[in-house]
Amino acid sequence: MNPFDATEKSREQKKILQNNLESVLARVARALETTAEPHREVTLVAVSKKQPLEKIQALAGLGQVHFGENYVQEALGKMENIGDYNTRWHFIGGLQTNKARHVAGKFSMVHSVDSLKLARELNKKAKSLNIVQPVLIQVNLAGESQKYGVPEKDLPELSEAVLDLDHLRLDGLMVMPPFFDDPEKSRPFFSRLKRLRHDLEQNLGINMPHLSMGMSGDFEAAVEEGATIIRVGTSLFGTR
Ligand SMILES: *Cc1c(COP(=O)(O)O)cnc(C)c1O
Repeated sequence: MNPFDATEKSREQKKILQNNLESVLARVARALETTAEPHREVTLVAVSKKQPLEKIQALAGLGQVHFGENYVQEALGKMENIGDYNTRWHFIGGLQTNKARHVAGKFSMVHSVDSLKLARELNKKAKSLNIVQPVLIQVNLAGESQKYGVPEKDLPELSEAVLDLDHLRLDGLMVMPPFFDDPEKSRPFFSRLKRLRHDLEQNLGINMPHLSMGMSGDFEAAVEEGATIIRVGTSLFGTR
């Protein structure tokens, strides 16, 4: 490719990303308007797994701050090389206990805490860094055995245990419903997650501000059901 074509291509790519970003933000705003709390803050996490650094930099250059990654090594490499942009990183993938020490302190939020063992490892690392790590508990509401997340029946016990860990701050819950091609099928999972947060807040006497739910195929339904964080990849970056 000659330099002219390369510049042209990157300009074209930036234009597409800008259109995608504007479109997603407009759809979020429209969905919010239909709710009982139109002023709720909804954070858009741009899911950048398997996307090249140039596209992440282009989106960051357009003002997108929050990025979500699923794989530890890939994420750390991108964070190191992103350059001088205002970015915050979210760990949203399944996390093995033996990788927890690479994650605590590096991410603004870990969305995928699903076992006490994992929570303890994150806490241990956070303690050694003398920080408090914000986390969400991922709930497996469909009971799918291959998916990450704590089974719903074990959520109260895990929540209580996480609250006892001084170097973690439990900010809320995350869900990833099974894949549906109809967003209405995801909706009951979103309303269920909100209900579970409410019950935990009541029973444990705590405040958990965040519900991380909604992806490219269903983020409007999630916003309508109370999401404060949506995780959107394909609708922003295109296919992976
Ligand atoms: C990949 C991924 C997303 C984004 O999915 P899209 O359909 O591309 O928007 C959101 N959340 C999690 C946990 C993911 O792994």
